[in-house]
Amino acid sequence: MENTSDVIIIGGGIIGCATGFYLVKKGLKVFLLEKDYLTAGSTGRCIGGIRQQFSTELSIKVAMESMKKFKIMDKEFEQDVEFHQGGYLFLAHSEEKKNTYLKLIELQKKMGLDVNYIGIDEIKKIVPGINPEGLLGGAHCPGDAQANPFLIVDGYAKRIRKNGAVFTNKEITGIEIQNGRVTSVKTQNNETYYAAIIINAAGSFVKEVSKLVGLDVPVSPERHEALITEPMERFFDMMIVDYRDDGCYFNQNFGKGSIIGCYTPKPNVPGHNLGTSFEFVKEMGRRTARLIPRLSSMKIIRQWSGSYEMTPDGNPILDKTDIQGFWIVGGMCGHGFMLAPEIGWLAAEYITEGKPPYNIDAFSLKRNFSHREVMK
Ligand SMILES: Cc1cc2nc3c(=O)[nH]c(=O)nc-3n(C[C@H](O)[C@H](O)[C@H](O)COP(=O)(O)OP(=O)(O)OC[C@H]3O[C@@H](n4cnc5c(N)ncnc54)[C@H](O)[C@@H]3O)c2cc1C
Repeated sequence: MENTSDVIIIGGGIIGCATGFYLVKKGLKVFLLEKDYLTAGSTGRCIGGIRQQFSTELSIKVAMESMKKFKIMDKEFEQDVEFHQGGYLFLAHSEEKKNTYLKLIELQKKMGLDVNYIGIDEIKKIVPGINPEGLLGGAHCPGDAQANPFLIVDGYAKRIRKNGAVFTNKEITGIEIQNGRVTSVKTQNNETYYAAIIINAAGSFVKEVSKLVGLDVPVSPERHEALITEPMERFFDMMIVDYRDDGCYFNQNFGKGSIIGCYTPKPNVPGHNLGTSFEFVKEMGRRTARLIPRLSSMKIIRQWSGSYEMTPDGNPILDKTDIQGFWIVGGMCGHGFMLAPEIGWLAAEYITEGKPPYNIDAFSLKRNFSHREVMK
């Protein structure tokens, strides 16, 4: 039947597309249904950073495995994805931050990550013109990277189309259950698509889509604003992260050298509102120029906002549910781009083999959500 597949994926962001890619590789027929266009959600609004510096063994492992997959992507997709390993540098402006990073580096090194705490002299060499005021040092992982989310989603989607289809402008408004099992989805135009496995990869809308089957899944949207500047000569290579309360994070695009960055608003801005503010542009400019004074004359050409899809502990959810055939792959908490390759692979393995290839209990739906990820 032309409206029947093995798996239906709800959501055309990087998580849905990566999951579909690996399911197709395992021989399954996949329909991916997106309410808008591919990358319309958080994926098309992210700043393309890829890091492996996390605070729990599972997150570090997933990020390191993802990195391996990013490295071979251009060959696998037969197209460039603008992958570039320029590193990530987490700045420490307090003893507390320094000690946190030193402790995490021990764990990260134990897991085989090439990461070091570096002093101001070295930071000055890799970030020419950085303001050393109050700076104690930083956690530097030279193998961290950046890539282009649009090209990667395109690469995944092309593979899905080889054994299935990618539908856009199809909002899922209903999910049919018979005898405790999912059987089909309904779109806003009353079309029906059938599959025994339905994956909720709706990003910041995971909660709303889960409600269609009566489940309450703890994923809530938080607005994050971002901006990009005019191209400029490249003079640093890594994502610079300043986790002070009034800090920010930004890198310089490998292509044209534009600065692209954001900060985490305090207090958080909950909800699906994707408006933008002058306050953000002003503050982001101030915070960036405080770190690298020569950027005080940078010319901002665009600003936008998107959602972080937050869970209570800052870790993803990748799990089946009590409704047979209904899966959740979401709640990426602002790390979905960098984690997607491994998360997609893990989801495909779990779904097809009946168990995950390694222990991912920390991503389960029914976990105790009290152990918070620190590197966020
Ligand atoms: C400003 C900003 C900067 C970021 N920077 C980074 C970064 O540097 N590195 C990083 O790793 N992550 C970053 N992120 C986070 C990252 O973008 C997300 O974690 C990731 O894109 C989540 O992917 P997703 O596929 O789960 O969600 P999404 O990309 O949001 O995709 C979900 C899709 O589901 C669709 N959908 C929702 N409801 C329905 C429905 N009922 N029917 C059909 N379709 C539906 C939506 O339209 C959407 O396209 C950033 C996010 C923001 C906002």
